[in-house]
Amino acid sequence: MPTRARAQDTLEYFERNLDAYLSDLRQLVEIESPTHDQQGIKRASLWLQTQFAGLGQLRRFDTDAGPVLRLFRRGSGPRVLLLAHYDTVHPVGSWSRLWREEKGKIYGPGVYDMKAGLLFALWALRYLSYSGQEHPNLEILLTPDEEVGSRSSRIFIEDAARGADYALVLEPPTGAGDLKVHRKGVGWYVLKVHGRAAHQGVEPEKGVNAIVEASRQVLRIVEAQDLEKGTTLGPNVVKGGTTGNVVADYAEVLVDMRAWTLDEAERVDSFMRGLRPLQKGARLELEGGLNRPPMEPTPESLRLFELARGVARDLGFDSRPGKVGGGSDGNFTANLGVPTLDGLGALGAGAHQKSEHIVKDALPPRLALLAELLTRLTRDA
Ligand SMILES: [Zn+2]
Repeated sequence: MPTRARAQDTLEYFERNLDAYLSDLRQLVEIESPTHDQQGIKRASLWLQTQFAGLGQLRRFDTDAGPVLRLFRRGSGPRVLLLAHYDTVHPVGSWSRLWREEKGKIYGPGVYDMKAGLLFALWALRYLSYSGQEHPNLEILLTPDEEVGSRSSRIFIEDAARGADYALVLEPPTGAGDLKVHRKGVGWYVLKVHGRAAHQGVEPEKGVNAIVEASRQVLRIVEAQDLEKGTTLGPNVVKGGTTGNVVADYAEVLVDMRAWTLDEAERVDSFMRGLRPLQKGARLELEGGLNRPPMEPTPESLRLFELARGVARDLGFDSRPGKVGGGSDGNFTANLGVPTLDGLGALGAGAHQKSEHIVKDALPPRLALLAELLTRLTRDA
């Protein structure tokens, strides 16, 4: 059967099953699961466990952040890792309506980032069971703490990646619908500045003002940016001082760092570690570092992208190789040398905002893209 006809068959399956998919998605979205809400995280994980049961060997690992679910399903040929997270950024109760459909868009906390994409994995498995299509060895990892840097999940992601030939990430595509082959690396630093307190009126000369020191450091830090290369340093949180008539003896600055390449990330890292006080009597302390290394495209990841692009074209849409400044768990797999393709989730917009939504019409083609890509990875790899 020619690839286009088979892709169309897959698409029809997801068109027929759209309501069933949406009913699943609604249930999952209505279980609010912000990262630090252990109750919501637990409920969401139990719901997922029930849904995925019977579609492969499912194991649950309890971590500080909540359960990591790992499902293995035997197939033939390469081993493909699918990554999705089920935590969201929205505090419980912050949405008055958890599910709202309006003009072809579906709004809800975490619907776009990334519960819709997560359920693509569930429905891809259902499709494979239904159709009996050949598929690669599949490993699916569902994690509870991506939104805060995947501290507890990271070892599971890296462990699974070490045995994988490909990694597919079910985060949303770019706003234009492009799959993602390039993500910036992300780091954060806390610069702690220690000065010396003194009475601002009686003997200010005896003090060392930590806020003045921190301000001068901030100006140096932003100069280490290289905007042409896309390397940014954002001093986005600052705290310090005690009261108006006391020379500030302490200040701290939280700095967000992003870079397209590991070279740039490392340049900034050694710059940050080289910061020295500019005022006599001040002392600096630095915490943090690179959290997610950049996901840089490789010949292998671009080949994987081209395979997916071919599927998309058979389904009637196109994708360019997308790049974005945000990180994902794909950064970890790419860093281990696993060809990684991201953005295979649902089309929509408004991540982390009240306008978060997915586009309903785009669901069947995007679901079909993942399912069909899996079957082609068996044959074309
Ligand atoms: Zn997010």
